[in-house]
Amino acid sequence: MHVEEGLEFCNLRLLWQTPNGRLTMFGGIEAGGTKFVCGAGSGPEDLKTAEIPTTSPECTVAASVKFLQENSAGNLQAVGIGSFGPVDLRADSSSFGFITSTPKAGWRNFDFAGAVRKVLDVLVGFDTDVNAAALGEARWGAAQGISDFLYLTIGTGIGGGAIVGGHVLHGLVHPEMGHIRVPHDLNRDPYRGCCPFHGDCLEGLASGPAIEQRWGVAGTNLPPAHPGWELEAHYLALGLANWVCTISPRRILLGGGVMQQAWLFPMIRAELARLLNGYVRARELMEDLDQYVIPPGLGNRAGILGAIALGEQAYRSQRLDKRSLTD
Ligand code: ADP
Ligand code: ZN
Repeated sequence: MHVEEGLEFCNLRLLWQTPNGRLTMFGGIEAGGTKFVCGAGSGPEDLKTAEIPTTSPECTVAASVKFLQENSAGNLQAVGIGSFGPVDLRADSSSFGFITSTPKAGWRNFDFAGAVRKVLDVLVGFDTDVNAAALGEARWGAAQGISDFLYLTIGTGIGGGAIVGGHVLHGLVHPEMGHIRVPHDLNRDPYRGCCPFHGDCLEGLASGPAIEQRWGVAGTNLPPAHPGWELEAHYLALGLANWVCTISPRRILLGGGVMQQAWLFPMIRAELARLLNGYVRARELMEDLDQYVIPPGLGNRAGILGAIALGEQAYRSQRLDKRSLTD
């Protein structure tokens, strides 16, 4: 077995070099419903980024690709795309790399990975935005060396990516952690929820838009002493308690706009401890909750660095494939 094969991607400390000794460049596209963040570089130190508004697939992808070409000094080896969804991630599917059933005009059934590959003619890694962000945190952020963890974003929606045994969890489609059902006490919280599919799923009750609809004021302007925050911490802790009991993560990273309210962290930790009630016996959950539920180490760069990590992963897999063919 090659040394590289024995290394968990999460623990990778390599910097790739081209045969002429120059640093290999990767491209990243963090594709969101309102904007794309594009990045070129080999990691956090040399990353160059640009934001592009999300318009039609043709215009947005053309502008993204142009940025990558202009900022990679001719060394672009692979591109990673972390995309809004739903996306098709089944490797054997004819629509792998497509955005599938989105209501977003023009993007439904768009061959995203194919469009980028066609213009740049490089390897393309493709995953959800949150899976990519989780990968970024594993590679350069607050989950380095941790084989099992969750990355969640609490913003316009709620999404989560899980790394299990050092690998991104995909499963049948990809996890939709924001849409889990949580207990909803209508006496305490008469708000019905804003998810168009489920009403009061976790996203429907605890996303940024849910806070704004329930209280008539965006989270940014909701005062710290407002009882809405206690409710928010309760719902998020319910989600966390469910994932602690199902996926058994060794750490949970909480990012996204709503988590900019840093004092939510101690509230969520205390509520998580209360809900688990000492049942799951682990030091991390009993004494070290301060280190267990934490912000992403890469802050708002988790998504774009995750996309770079996806590109790097595609490049690395191909190199290993080539080597095993010549063995
Ligand atoms: P997106 O999810 O669209 O990528 P964000 O993660 O910034 O973007 O999430 C936007 C949502 O988060 C909005 O509903 C907004 O009201 C809320 N939000 C943004 N910043 C804050 C903040 N500092 N405090 C509380 N809520 C915030
Ligand atoms: Zn839902």
